[in-house]
Amino acid sequence: MKSLGKCPFCQDGQIEVREGETSKSYACSNARWTKEYDFWELTKDSTCSFSVNQRALLRWNKKSFSEKEMRAMLSSGETKVRLYSGAKKTEYFKYVVPNLEFGLEVLWDVDIDA
Ligand SMILES: [Zn+2]
Repeated sequence: MKSLGKCPFCQDGQIEVREGETSKSYACSNARWTKEYDFWELTKDSTCSFSVNQRALLRWNKKSFSEKEMRAMLSSGETKVRLYSGAKKTEYFKYVVPNLEFGLEVLWDVDIDA
């Protein structure tokens, strides 16, 4: 399994690409999920829960968070993404950082000159 980088939240975890039913995700090698009825649950032997869905930024009109962007974020702790405002019909740039609970966190307070 190829690794996109080291997990920012645990000792020996490597981030790998997982193909889901409807979308790809990037998950820590120490995190596994099983499907219980309709819910995905972390397995008991998992020691980490970090994962980022490729579509994590969909609500800001970014269709896919790419493997390249994931790699960049893991190696430098943050990466710049291009988002799009449907209301203002304009694109803008923000930094995203890894977040254990949500996968990605957008740093809304940090302005970037594109
Ligand atoms: Zn981990």
